[in-house]
Amino acid sequence: MNFSTVHLPKSIFYGEGSLEKVGEEAKKLGSKALVVSDNIIKEVGYLEKCHHYLEQAGVSYVDYLEIASEPTDHYVTEALKVTNEEACDVIVALGGGSCIDTAKAVAVLATNDGELSEYMGAKRIAENKPLPLLAVPTTAGTGSEATDVTVITNTKNDVKMMIKQPAFMPEIAIVDPILTISSPKSITAATGVDALTHALEAYISRKAHPFTDQLALSAIKLIMENLLEAYNNGSNVEAREKMIYASMLGGIAFSNSSVCLVHGMSRPIGALFHVPHGISNAMLLPTVLEYSKESCIDRLVEIGEYLSPGVKGFPKGEVSENVVSDIVELCEKLGIPNLKSWGINEEQFEQVLEKMAADAIASGSPGNNPKIPTEEEIVVLYKKAFVYE
Ligand code: NAD
Repeated sequence: MNFSTVHLPKSIFYGEGSLEKVGEEAKKLGSKALVVSDNIIKEVGYLEKCHHYLEQAGVSYVDYLEIASEPTDHYVTEALKVTNEEACDVIVALGGGSCIDTAKAVAVLATNDGELSEYMGAKRIAENKPLPLLAVPTTAGTGSEATDVTVITNTKNDVKMMIKQPAFMPEIAIVDPILTISSPKSITAATGVDALTHALEAYISRKAHPFTDQLALSAIKLIMENLLEAYNNGSNVEAREKMIYASMLGGIAFSNSSVCLVHGMSRPIGALFHVPHGISNAMLLPTVLEYSKESCIDRLVEIGEYLSPGVKGFPKGEVSENVVSDIVELCEKLGIPNLKSWGINEEQFEQVLEKMAADAIASGSPGNNPKIPTEEEIVVLYKKAFVYE
């Protein structure tokens, strides 16, 4: 048998002003909400708006706002405690991927036994229905609102756990581009390249299939055409709208296909050096593309032809090379640093290279790459990316 399965949220509300659906939709699913967000989202006023819509619908709520980037199991434990003590029966995640991922883990653990780490690699499967989750992204990057994935760092072994099971899919996604307007340039750049990496890896993955291909291609085109504008002119609602739409498409594409080597190598950097996920992906993308390009030349040509139909019939090498150089150039224009200029200590980096390479392989993502690397090759790629210019 050779078939594919597609997982999606039950409903997706999309477009300017869609945040107003949060109260009405939460009301259908429960009576007391845990709102998982952070203090920056509070400062920019989105939390208050969310509260307003919940109150209007007659849903009571309690906030958990302690989330910081690259969330750990510590936040999950704390937020779960609040959920249980306050008898919350529905969860609203309002924020970037860090808030949404924490909320996903809480939703599953509220109704299922065991430690979160047991769910990694499907060692344990969530058998009970999780608490219903409404995911409202404020970054255009992870697509977590529409993926069955959560990424949480295990503080016992410093491994960024990528956990993928249907139970981690939010019930409702509310994708309102207005919530990304306040995103500062650095976050717009990092999250935008994250979305691009999802779409690109979903397309070149060994697990790609026709459903994910179309979403991935659309996402790549939207990002290549709008990310720089969203970065340079953050108040351009049209560019923001296209970016958050692309981010969601990229999320659906990779969670139903897969991510590959960039993500596999990126997670250990996040776990050990606390580099935000989008930035570590962006730091690796050019080096990994150079490494993989010969093995996915046809896929790169298809991307090139989708982006510019006029290149049909041009030599494959030229078309694929242009795709790679356009992406590298975009990263340059977005001011993506290399690992060294980010401030990572070279000696410390050298000391953990082998652990990072082993953790990358263990995550399974490199095995989906068109060219499957050995641990030794990953070490070389890390070294190259460290000083990439
Ligand atoms: P984030 O959630 O960590 O947010 C980064 C920073 O931006 C935070 O300080 C946050 O407060 C701030 N921020 C968010 N929205 C803002 C806005 N509109 N205005 C101003 N500031 C804003 O960043 P992220 O890139 O969205 O999420 C990263 C996490 O998601 C990582 O842990 C990564 O591994 C994970 N991830 C998950 C999936 C998935 O499918 N579950 C996919 C990719 C990445």
